[in-house]
Amino acid sequence: MASSRSTTRPQRASSPTSTSPPWCGCPAANNKPGSISTLPADTAFDDDLGHLHGALADWPAPVAALLAATERDAVSRHDIYDRTIARTWISGAVTLVGDAAHPMRPHLGQGGCQALEDAATLAQLLAQQHPVDAFAAYESARRRRALRYVRLSALAGRVQLIPDALRPMAYRLFAGVPERMVARQLSAIASATAFG
Ligand SMILES: Cc1cc2nc3c(=O)[nH]c(=O)nc-3n(C[C@H](O)[C@H](O)[C@H](O)COP(=O)(O)OP(=O)(O)OC[C@H]3O[C@@H](n4cnc5c(N)ncnc54)[C@H](O)[C@@H]3O)c2cc1C
Repeated sequence: MASSRSTTRPQRASSPTSTSPPWCGCPAANNKPGSISTLPADTAFDDDLGHLHGALADWPAPVAALLAATERDAVSRHDIYDRTIARTWISGAVTLVGDAAHPMRPHLGQGGCQALEDAATLAQLLAQQHPVDAFAAYESARRRRALRYVRLSALAGRVQLIPDALRPMAYRLFAGVPERMVARQLSAIASATAFG
């Protein structure tokens, strides 16, 4: 919960680089506890805090206590917009890192990880060579890997945009996927090294 209420409602992104309608993430009532759900771009609630009380009713402590202690005006809503990966990350003595270079949807939990990998890679290269060369080497080392997670995150987000009517069936199907298969997928992401 942030300290100010955003009155902004989802709108179509005006940027020509937008690749798909904006979307917003928050827990939905029929979602599993602890996960992020994607809501259609035009979703709006008259009472955001009331929605959260309902949506998170089954969540473990201390979620209910936190919500009870939250003022209605303290709920902040931030819609999330898609933007394609920057065509180039470098301009003269400036280079982009993290979301500025390759924003991605949060569904894989990789945006922050990739930003850290950018920083670590850049620091390593800057210690070894002239900044102009280091910037070029940085982009060439990072671009492909970051783009992979941009695409995978987009896919994971899109899967969540299934119609409400199909959600229970989708969850049943997902529950049937053996845990070791899910773990294998996630560990392939988590264990891939950025410094190959
Ligand atoms: C709901 C959600 C869940 C997520 N979950 C995960 C997760 O589990 N794991 C994960 O790895 N990632 C996750 N992410 C993604 C992660 O938060 C971002 O990818 C990460 O914060 C990007 O870091 P950054 O430093 O590039 O950008 P930011 O964290 O956005 O930092 C940019 C900073 O620049 C400041 N700034 C902006 N404009 C100016 C200006 N003009 N002057 C000065 N300062 C300015 C901003 O205030 C901000 O502090 C999630 C994102 C969301 C939305």
